[in-house]
Amino acid sequence: MAIQDNVEVVLEKVAQAAGRSGRSADSITLIAVSKQKSLAMIKDAVSAGLRDFGENRSAELASKAQALPNLNWHFIGHLQTRQSQPVADYAGLFHAVDRPKIATRLNNQLTHTLPVLLEINVSGEASKGGFDCSDWENDGAQRAALVQAATTISELARIEIHGLMTMAPYVADDATVRQVFSRTRRLAEWLRSTLPDISWDALSMGMTNDYAIGIEEGATHVRVGRAIFGERQY
Ligand SMILES: *Cc1c(COP(=O)(O)O)cnc(C)c1O
Repeated sequence: MAIQDNVEVVLEKVAQAAGRSGRSADSITLIAVSKQKSLAMIKDAVSAGLRDFGENRSAELASKAQALPNLNWHFIGHLQTRQSQPVADYAGLFHAVDRPKIATRLNNQLTHTLPVLLEINVSGEASKGGFDCSDWENDGAQRAALVQAATTISELARIEIHGLMTMAPYVADDATVRQVFSRTRRLAEWLRSTLPDISWDALSMGMTNDYAIGIEEGATHVRVGRAIFGERQY
């Protein structure tokens, strides 16, 4: 299917899921994950109405954001310290802060305020990045480590925490996926009462396989690649 048609289908599903969660479609940001996809394909998605695009390699972010500067660029992947400058220069939202060190590094490179999300790992999968929150409801040490990291990060002048990002297990039944997302939402609620000076309103949850469930469980941002651009090479 053409990219424009795919965008229409995804936007419709976003609107339906938003309705099921008692929210309007415009309270949800659909991020088209354009990693490995060409500028021509991104322009097709723009002509279908999208403005938010997600990348997970900083060099690719730099070249695409330079070519298409009037879009909102999201950095959604793990970021190595030595590759952070393009994220400081071009990202409007960085979804995957997984350690204070990367936030400190960005803070030193930024000349403006960068909104960020903390990536959390609630499924406990070793292959997934993020703060270990696999048993946050019962494990006080996990909660304390997250609070300490969030506090450290929130003291950086040019970094502004806005919420959490998580990924569900790639191959999982709907009930398992839903539980990962609802546990993430409840963690954000707990953080809101524990660290009320930080904004915990944004929840980046859901990809091609599970964005409708993410929205039903409270996602404000979904990151959708294949349903818009088709399969990737690797
Ligand atoms: C690639 C990627 C996505 C998009 O995945 P699809 O299955 O193509 O929708 C979303 N989030 C992150 C962090 C990714 O790396």
